[in-house]
Amino acid sequence: MNKFDDFSDYLHQLKQQEQFRQIPNLIHQGKWILREQHTMLNMSSNDYLGLANDEILKQQFLEKYAKKLPHFSSSSSRLLTGAFPIYEQLETEMANAFNRESCLIFNSGYHANIGILPAIANKKTLIVADKLVHASLIDGIRLSEGDFVRYRHNDLEHLEYILTINQNKYDRMIIVTESIFSMDGDVADLKQLVAFKQRFGNVLLYVDEAHAIGVYGEKGLGIAEQQHCIQQIDFLVGTFGKALASMGAYVICDKVIKDYLVNKVRSFIFSTALPPFSVAWTLFLFEQLASFKARRQHLYVLSEYLRQQIRLLEKPMTSQSCIVPYIIGENKQTQKMAIALQQQGYYCLPIRPPTVPKGTSRIRLSLTADMKLKEIENFMIHLKMFDKQIRKDS
Ligand SMILES: *Cc1c(COP(=O)(O)O)cnc(C)c1O
Repeated sequence: MNKFDDFSDYLHQLKQQEQFRQIPNLIHQGKWILREQHTMLNMSSNDYLGLANDEILKQQFLEKYAKKLPHFSSSSSRLLTGAFPIYEQLETEMANAFNRESCLIFNSGYHANIGILPAIANKKTLIVADKLVHASLIDGIRLSEGDFVRYRHNDLEHLEYILTINQNKYDRMIIVTESIFSMDGDVADLKQLVAFKQRFGNVLLYVDEAHAIGVYGEKGLGIAEQQHCIQQIDFLVGTFGKALASMGAYVICDKVIKDYLVNKVRSFIFSTALPPFSVAWTLFLFEQLASFKARRQHLYVLSEYLRQQIRLLEKPMTSQSCIVPYIIGENKQTQKMAIALQQQGYYCLPIRPPTVPKGTSRIRLSLTADMKLKEIENFMIHLKMFDKQIRKDS
């Protein structure tokens, strides 16, 4: 008996179930990824606008700050000595862009979601979350004292039923959803959620725009902008690590909420603030967000093409975004398909349970604005070929 036997047993089990995770060795060259000297187009990136790969933007940023570089560390929580003017500059800029009272920056989306929910939910709160919300939201809910139920994915009738039967049992209910869902690329009907909020009275609305900020809306402010309901969302959360090519997260909210969060959120209070250098880069990109419209437009064209092509293969397709699932169903075949596509030069990853529901294993394709239509057309030639092969095999 070895003292780590139970851990090795667990890993052995994972390997048997083909669910063992490993950190790959990758080298990045623009939109391409190199692994073991093999070059692949990155079709699994969250860099939706292609900003993280833009050398010109990086140079412009460095020139802007050439005379005086921002600090590379804040060395402390903002409540102690880690407060720098750049945080407030970004928060003010963002609150203004969203035309709301306040904005609060977090170290990551994970910090925001595991911090805010426990701070706002007590024993008399019911948290009602979409079945498919991100792990960070689930962890936030589990850390909170509130009761918790899930409604079927994007099923507003089910949500309405849950709100109705619980309305009088709780002081407050909090609806939690993403705006664009990370594995299906489909979009929540935020307008209808706002309507529920107004009808039931004791409901707050918490929306995570991690995959939408930068990409949707006239000014790139997300699905809330596109659906004209920025003003009605109590906690409008988003991250900087995806389309905004940086690190960190924000919540857009009323001033009283911001003050409350600063006093209550443990992941904000007890963690060293982001490096000012990193916040300056976020601000540099956020200031230009509205002007990246051509990138957004190009991304819509690519996405529409890919969704339509996969629909032609008679695959379920609820995506309305640049995240496009190609659903296979079975684990082994999904794995095989991913490897085949990688061999052809496309960095595609298999997504399996528990990340997605059983029987819906898939290749999650995500597009970025620095791709060319021709590249997606070539990709489709390979995908169609493998698709035929799978049909023959099964
Ligand atoms: C990526 C993601 C997060 C986590 O954000 P990080 O900044 O990477 O910690 C939170 N919510 C959703 C929906 C995400 O997709």
